[in-house]
Amino acid sequence: MDASDFRKRGKEMVDYIADYMETISNRRVTPDVEPGYLAEKLPKRAPKKGEEFNDIMIDVDKYIIPGITHWQHPHFHAFFPAGNSFPSILGDMLSDAIGCVGFSWAASPACTELEIVVLDWFGKMLGLPNEFLHEGGTGGGVIQGSASECVLVTLLAARHTTLKDLKGKFPFVDDGILLPKLVAYSSKLAHSCVEKAGMIGLVKMRQLDVDEHFSLRGHVLERAIEEDRRLGLIPFYVCATLGTTACCSFDHLQELSEVCAKESVWLHVDAAYAGNALICAENQHYIRGIENATSFNCNPNKWMLVNFDCSLMWVRNKELLTSSMAVDPLYLQHKHDDKAEDFRHWGIPLSRRFRSLKIWFVIRTYGVEGLQHYIRKHIRLAKLFETYVKNDARFEVMGKVTMGLVCFRLKGPNSLTQKLCRMINESARLYTVPALINENYVIRFCVCAQDAMESDIEYAWRIISQEASELLDQRAS
Ligand code: PLP
Repeated sequence: MDASDFRKRGKEMVDYIADYMETISNRRVTPDVEPGYLAEKLPKRAPKKGEEFNDIMIDVDKYIIPGITHWQHPHFHAFFPAGNSFPSILGDMLSDAIGCVGFSWAASPACTELEIVVLDWFGKMLGLPNEFLHEGGTGGGVIQGSASECVLVTLLAARHTTLKDLKGKFPFVDDGILLPKLVAYSSKLAHSCVEKAGMIGLVKMRQLDVDEHFSLRGHVLERAIEEDRRLGLIPFYVCATLGTTACCSFDHLQELSEVCAKESVWLHVDAAYAGNALICAENQHYIRGIENATSFNCNPNKWMLVNFDCSLMWVRNKELLTSSMAVDPLYLQHKHDDKAEDFRHWGIPLSRRFRSLKIWFVIRTYGVEGLQHYIRKHIRLAKLFETYVKNDARFEVMGKVTMGLVCFRLKGPNSLTQKLCRMINESARLYTVPALINENYVIRFCVCAQDAMESDIEYAWRIISQEASELLDQRAS
């Protein structure tokens, strides 16, 4: 494909994308296909000779689109949102075209420098303390591929820091003896990526009980740390969650941060979804205690109109992170590496895409006020849905509705809600997923679509209510 073909096909593709977005609500939200559907339809081997672009697009419509779950559909209410917007798509297009691999400052200075600027903008929008910003001097932010990566990377940095300190105190004790003594903590409602980080990092991960608001409290952590120290274990890392995946509950950051400061334990804050809402002043109270945290992550690719992948991570002391990740072969060194940031030392991959472009495009297009408006609209719509649930005596809401997520269930045994969730999804008119909160089976209803409207919420409630009536009638007869 030459530049003139690209101009033609590129314009057609932009039209295709705009048409897709504009007509998305005419489609089923979930596809009607079975596992293996695609392999049956496509050739078993790659084509020997290049094919016409038109033929590829015909197959997109024939084979690919029918197998798509439409995450941007107004009736998609599962998981958390997959951030998306036209400015973000355009920013990513440009990043793909520039095609630089920004592992060091010299590998593409603008790629590193825009990341620094945008992470400082965003950190300020979230109200992070100055020490977490690049301009603060000792800390800074970086783009990672996922919240899972942020949790893993910070756990590895905390492990490295602790082992280094211990080796300083006990130089003749082998790492192999120290490692099994390390213990990390999170609440039982922390995302599964926290447990996974413990598995990969070869450390114990204790999952602590939450209170009646599904929140991990300081005294629970303190007691666990005391118990473990008595057993000769070494507490080294806590992952607090702001906005748990199951029900969007918030760990008590203020209390946890005091315990971590007293115990000299690394405190990471995973705010993958709900952290985005900190840009609204009324949500700032959730990060009271952040001044004692060591690191923080939040995903604009969930709830800030930025396309996947884009998970932001800030650390108070970048030395602690980079000293655990830095290897420095000659071919990656450059003449400015003593005074320029090289983000390859801030995470696992060497190669890094120019992801700050899409954030920059989004923030500049909407402005902070536009983004605040988007977050507040989602919260308002979730509260509207909550009112519908609360006004129907057959249902109950589980947990507090503070963000865009409502967890609800039919009163009675779990099997009822389980069946209802299946019926809703089988109708293909809505898509929701379940969760288990303290043994209660709930349906998670998340406001996800970028331009979600009251009519979408009314529609969703109508479907849910109809399916519930059908289920309860069947049961009664
Ligand atoms: N942490 C929380 C609180 C989440 O809700 C999620 C996913 O929904 C994750 C971490 C994992 O996110 P990622 O897919 O970016 O790894």
